Amino acid sequence: MKLQNYISGSFIEPDSGEWMEDYSPATGEIIGHVPKSQKSDVNKAVQAAKDALPSWSSLTHVERSEWLDKIADNLESKYEEIAQLESKDTGKPISLAREVDAYRSVKNFRFFAEIIRNLESEHFEMEDANNRIIYKPVGIGALITPWNLPLYLLSWKVAPAIGMGNTVVCKPSELTPMTADLLMKAIHEIGLPKGVINLVHGDGIGAGSPLVSHQDVNLVSFTGGTSTGAIVAQSAAPSFKKLSLELGGKNSSIIFNDCDLDKTVPGVVRSGFLNQGQVCLCGSRILVQESIYDEFVERFVNEVENMKIGDPSNEDTKLGALISPEHLLKIEEYIHIAKDEGGTILTGGYPCLPKEFEKGNWIAPTVIADLKVNSRCSTEEIFGPIVTIHKFSSEEDAIKIANNTRYGLAGSIWTTDLEKGNRVAEQIHTGMIWINTWLHRDLRVPFGGVKDSGVGREGGKWSLGFFSETMNICTKYD
Ligand code: NAD
Repeated sequence: MKLQNYISGSFIEPDSGEWMEDYSPATGEIIGHVPKSQKSDVNKAVQAAKDALPSWSSLTHVERSEWLDKIADNLESKYEEIAQLESKDTGKPISLAREVDAYRSVKNFRFFAEIIRNLESEHFEMEDANNRIIYKPVGIGALITPWNLPLYLLSWKVAPAIGMGNTVVCKPSELTPMTADLLMKAIHEIGLPKGVINLVHGDGIGAGSPLVSHQDVNLVSFTGGTSTGAIVAQSAAPSFKKLSLELGGKNSSIIFNDCDLDKTVPGVVRSGFLNQGQVCLCGSRILVQESIYDEFVERFVNEVENMKIGDPSNEDTKLGALISPEHLLKIEEYIHIAKDEGGTILTGGYPCLPKEFEKGNWIAPTVIADLKVNSRCSTEEIFGPIVTIHKFSSEEDAIKIANNTRYGLAGSIWTTDLEKGNRVAEQIHTGMIWINTWLHRDLRVPFGGVKDSGVGREGGKWSLGFFSETMNICTKYD
């Protein structure tokens, strides 16, 4: 597949006439070519968004919601294609690509269609006046996404952005461009007005950087690594662009001795290793109360070793490949660091796979014990199939350990004492905590992190707030 940019309703080649290779994480083979776009391509896409803005922003919320529903309908008809492309491009198991990626991509459009359709202006009455709050589009949005949940995260931004009347330029990860291309085909087929959604493929320096610093871009919604987020924030600051940053995480799963181990063990395994541990919310540091530590560790390691790793297209595969050789190298380096730091590898290593996968990026899920809670492996974001396990003694101890990283995105608490669970949750410095579950998503709730995990919240009405300018109109009565 030789992909193209999508600008002003047309699929066009990059000005450079250059393409980058897109590799299958599972086999290492080339599966596509991605435009190597540059500033001139970005300028064209921003101009297209600018031209489309007046007529798109003048539609009503209800009219725009109808377009979101049409996109959802078309994507739904491509459900299996989304899953197949996403599995091939990211190396994730096909069952996960169906259940999570395809499902949520359609759902995001439906969900925002529904809440935007029902959006009503708020009123605050005074004795002698009325305040009416309205939501106006911000303007042109730059939407930048990572490789771990490609269409899931892109649709999470596109739907509320255009639903609130903005026009957008998308820049998906150069490592996973396939389903962004499919989304452009879907909107093309339904005849979405040209220029409302534009897409420029390319890398961060060539395409991402000129997009976030473009003078006509009014908002930036970025999901990606913390260090990239810092650069994006710097680029956006001089022109006071509205900014949302969803960044990295190092999340704790806190397991109290009164938990239901039959539910906790599989829950914590899922939280540690879903998508090969490549979810920003993954619970990669596991804190276990000392009286159940030995039993938990034995059952946990056993469950991890029973997960089937291999061919992503097999229906019963639970773990696929890592995104790139560079990412695999990073994971291997962290395993070396863990050994240097005194860690004990309880399980891990390289899986034994058929010959067709020998050039892929494979590593077995790895569990490391005996590290200090302030060690590098226990506090830095690894973003792969590695978890570290630690003991804690008391509630206070667990809270102290959970808070000792620079990140503050999410976490989970496992206990049958819900009062204690809630008490502990309130003291963890993160944007989200689950009790006796993990990644149990209600799209109405706020999503985002504190500390180095980001700035701002998206999700439900928080997305509507971010992708709009709130205005108050105060009318004095006679
Ligand atoms: P990344 O920061 O390397 O890249 C993210 C996107 O930014 C890509 O599209 C990339 O091309 C682009 N980019 C790179 N440099 C840029 C620049 N200077 N200006 C503009 N754009 C630029 O991240 P990644 O490796 O693709 O994704 C993994 C990271 O994403 C992890 O840290 C993970 O925790 C984080 N993430 C966070 C969330 C969340 O909601 N908080 C969700 C998913 C992933």
